[in-house]
Amino acid sequence: KQRELEGLRDLPAETVDGSRVFLRANIGLLNDVKVAQASGAEGVGLYRTEFPYMTRKTFPNRIEQYNLYRKIVEGFPSHPVTIRTLDIGGDKGLSYFPFPKEDNPFMGWRSIRVSLEEEDIFREQLAAILMASVHGKITVMFPMISSVEEIRTVKRILEEVKDELTADKKPFNPTIPLGVMVEIPAAVQIAHLLIREVDFFSIGTNDLIQYTLAADRNNPKVKQYYDPYHPAILHSIKRVADVAGAAGKKVSICGEMAADPINAILLLGMGISDFSLTAPYIPLIKQAILKITMAEAREISAAALQMESSADIREYLAKAKAALK
Ligand code: PEP
Ligand code: MG
Repeated sequence: KQRELEGLRDLPAETVDGSRVFLRANIGLLNDVKVAQASGAEGVGLYRTEFPYMTRKTFPNRIEQYNLYRKIVEGFPSHPVTIRTLDIGGDKGLSYFPFPKEDNPFMGWRSIRVSLEEEDIFREQLAAILMASVHGKITVMFPMISSVEEIRTVKRILEEVKDELTADKKPFNPTIPLGVMVEIPAAVQIAHLLIREVDFFSIGTNDLIQYTLAADRNNPKVKQYYDPYHPAILHSIKRVADVAGAAGKKVSICGEMAADPINAILLLGMGISDFSLTAPYIPLIKQAILKITMAEAREISAAALQMESSADIREYLAKAKAALK
């Protein structure tokens, strides 16, 4: 079984009827690059840059960040690497940076909110990403976006950083693709407005489930409420996929939800063909994709989207999954 999965490493992920699917890796530390390569990842769909910040004693400066990003993109010479800007706060603290004590840290000062207030830290990171962009196919995405104003502010700051680099004669890719992570319900509702601002969406189901269903992703007490099969979640994802599709822009999924083969098929049937996963799951998902047709995937999605309860959806998908083998 393991041998069979290893044999898939260099095969492209493609449905039986020839629809191409991209399976990329979620990474955090430099070591994950090897794991991603070994699993046949076609690049990186989510590089969680907070990990290198968390393992240090002080903020890394732009050169340190640049060197790190450069090493990572050089690990994937022919594939894209999507760098997510700092997503700190919530459950991810930094020993050397004081966070305010908050009653609800997940709904508090975290992620892009920190970057927009601590602008110097944000600018250093953007400069490092831009400088690394000459070494490979880097794209950049911004977490926890909840409004059009926010992404416009982000883009204004990015343009200013580009101007500074130009003045300093530092080369960078001037058309570096930009994306928004869709992980707050408000972003789902205004997806049609947000898509005009960027080149792609990446759906962060881990947070999207938590915020849509008001169920802490780390609290076992509310585990039953944290439910990827809640109809609200499926319809949210479908809506985001439709909006991106209608705008002719890319949409990917980088939450853990896609790490189950039947979920990947469900999402594929909704029009999502770009997945970013914890690397060791890639062969398993590829194996399922190689055995399905787009028509079958669409049928599975259409049926699930018709259902009224997560219990029905879960039962239906369990049967569909059993029929896969
Ligand atoms: C997500 O929220 O789904 C996501 C991919 O980001 P993180 O798990 O880092 O919050
Ligand atoms: Mg998230």
